[in-house]
Amino acid sequence: MHLSFVLFIVILFNIKMYAEIKKRKKAEKKLEDNANKDPLTNIYNRRKLSRIFEIEKLRASRYKHDLSLIFIDIDNFKVVNDTYGHDLGDKVLIKFSEILKKNIRKTDYLSRWGGEEFIILLTETNASHAALLAEKLKDIIAESPFSHKKRITASFGVSQYLYDDQEKDVFKRADNAMYYVKEHGKNAVKIL
Ligand code: GH3
Ligand code: MG
Ligand code: MG
Repeated sequence: MHLSFVLFIVILFNIKMYAEIKKRKKAEKKLEDNANKDPLTNIYNRRKLSRIFEIEKLRASRYKHDLSLIFIDIDNFKVVNDTYGHDLGDKVLIKFSEILKKNIRKTDYLSRWGGEEFIILLTETNASHAALLAEKLKDIIAESPFSHKKRITASFGVSQYLYDDQEKDVFKRADNAMYYVKEHGKNAVKIL
């Protein structure tokens, strides 16, 4: 057989194999995204954040590192939906999550916890530094124009993971802090 023909077959085989690997990787990534990401905002879902938390809390306890949570709930979101429709509500959620994503560190984990609720898990961060970020995010959100040309605000609850916390105590404290803000005029940050 002519050498160049053999070479041609080898190259052809390689190209096919490369294309097949690429296709499989894409399919794997899609499966992984479906399991870990919220389809509307394309950020982590509740399940993924819970898993990350389980690992990060072990790391924090083991190495005595700081770990904090910010619980965020959009204010009066039902009014947005009722006034401008569900599709616009969806757009607000997308933009809201983009703003959060753009203004956190690469080592922070952002997730959609539920409807209009988000959680940021901050590694190597204590409660007062987490609160500083929450204040910054609160101001950026309040100043950002959304597609219905109206302002959006959100309420922020902050808490730090304590090494003797049971289960998800830090989630409960951050949630309680957020509710405290809801009951005291919204659009603010509270640490518990
Ligand atoms: P508060 O300031 O007390 O948080 O009031 P709120 O209106 O934001 O809270 P409430 O829990 O009464 O309403 C949340 C709304 O979020 C109701 C629900 O229809 C809406 N929502 C949840 N998920 C989605 C979604 O995926 N898309 C849209 N457009 N709306 C959603
Ligand atoms: Mg809510
Ligand atoms: Mg709300």
